Amino acid sequence: MQVRITVSFPYEAPVSQSLFDRASAVTPGGVNSPVRAFRAVGGTPRFMVSGTGPYLTDADGREYVDLVCSWGPMILGHSHPAVIAAVQEAVARGTSFGTPGEGEVELAEEIVARIAPVEEVRLVSSGTEATMSAIRLARGFTGRAKVIKFAGCYHGHVDALLAAAGSGVATFGLPDTPGVTGAQAGDTIVLPYNDIEAVRAAFAAHPGEIACVITEASPGNMGVVPPLPGFNQGLKDACAEHGALYISDEVMTGFRVSKAGWYGIDGVRPDLMTFGKVMGGGFPAAAFGGRADVMAHLAPAGPVYQAGTLSGNPVATAAGVAQLRLLDDAAYESVDAVSAEVRGLVTAALAKEGVAHRLQVAGNMFSVFFTDAEVTDYDAAKTQEAFRFTAFFHSMLSQGVYLPPSAFESWFVSTAHDAAAVERIAAALPAAARAAAEATA
Ligand code: PLP
Repeated sequence: MQVRITVSFPYEAPVSQSLFDRASAVTPGGVNSPVRAFRAVGGTPRFMVSGTGPYLTDADGREYVDLVCSWGPMILGHSHPAVIAAVQEAVARGTSFGTPGEGEVELAEEIVARIAPVEEVRLVSSGTEATMSAIRLARGFTGRAKVIKFAGCYHGHVDALLAAAGSGVATFGLPDTPGVTGAQAGDTIVLPYNDIEAVRAAFAAHPGEIACVITEASPGNMGVVPPLPGFNQGLKDACAEHGALYISDEVMTGFRVSKAGWYGIDGVRPDLMTFGKVMGGGFPAAAFGGRADVMAHLAPAGPVYQAGTLSGNPVATAAGVAQLRLLDDAAYESVDAVSAEVRGLVTAALAKEGVAHRLQVAGNMFSVFFTDAEVTDYDAAKTQEAFRFTAFFHSMLSQGVYLPPSAFESWFVSTAHDAAAVERIAAALPAAARAAAEATA
């Protein structure tokens, strides 16, 4: 979907434009992940060449305060010296061995030590692999086929989980994805988020058929839409009552919103959990884990097959271990504080211009909906005036602040977002709020 752009562009990015032209000749849509392409907001995607602390620099030499943080992973900011040193030390010893290595054990131990429900963990390379494998394991463990997921939740591009998904699927308003067959999607039951009665009704309608419920621990892929009080516990209870597994997808929230992710905030104990993003320190590392009796069904301990040539890659695990070891209570306090500060500035600027908006928060993750109603599910998220976000986004970009190029994504900050970075955001906000106020559909 190409969106009509209602703001003027007082800035140019000729080098990014020429790179995008080259990319578009050899790569579909010019990008390797759809939401990077700026299609929802229009304009030329910025090709970044370096990142330091809270800043990114693009190929035209422009610097931006980064409020995307690689979609979550860069919680210590870019090029953190300790992470870079760990990577350099690891890479000097070789890049992949195809054998077990100590780094994998260290990363698994870090995860198990932080997150009580994870008794055992298997490392993979992407969040998509983690959720795909967790679903397969749940099906293998229970001997059942059906999966409940929620509209607006994104769990990676797993065939069975793309129905009514968030993230890029929400950004582009795609109803369904060609290429996913009826057979692949036929066992997926999609329910409205935060609707526990719908979950109970689905269990009643499919007795003995539902293998698992998978949910984002606190969704960030339709914008930030936290679970209503009791919702996650309700999922857990319904699963326990009906012999299904409760899978909490913490790819986004894991190690980001607290030391123990969203589990550290709501304390609802999942049967299986999935992780990615922060645990890889900017490298492809992800994981799924949980109850030891369930994990024991995975090959080679059990019959459910799952594997990966680059799983537990030594460079990725070194980056992940270095990053996790720096994420102590003080680090989370600092990310929480900067998140609160930025939220306060954003809402004050929009209120000053009389722009109807709703700032929603989950730990240190947050996003702005251009509506004044509370957003508790995907249908409500879609009613926002996304054209105001487009104007807001381009104004911020032109002033050197890089936001997610979609109204349906979380914003992220890091320990590196210091007073100078916050000041730059504050300086950009008045004009962006004015642009949002003046935008027309
Ligand atoms: N699950 C959630 C909650 C996510 O936010 C994402 C990615 O944004 C994924 C799974 C998929 O992760 P990946 O992009 O690493 O495949």
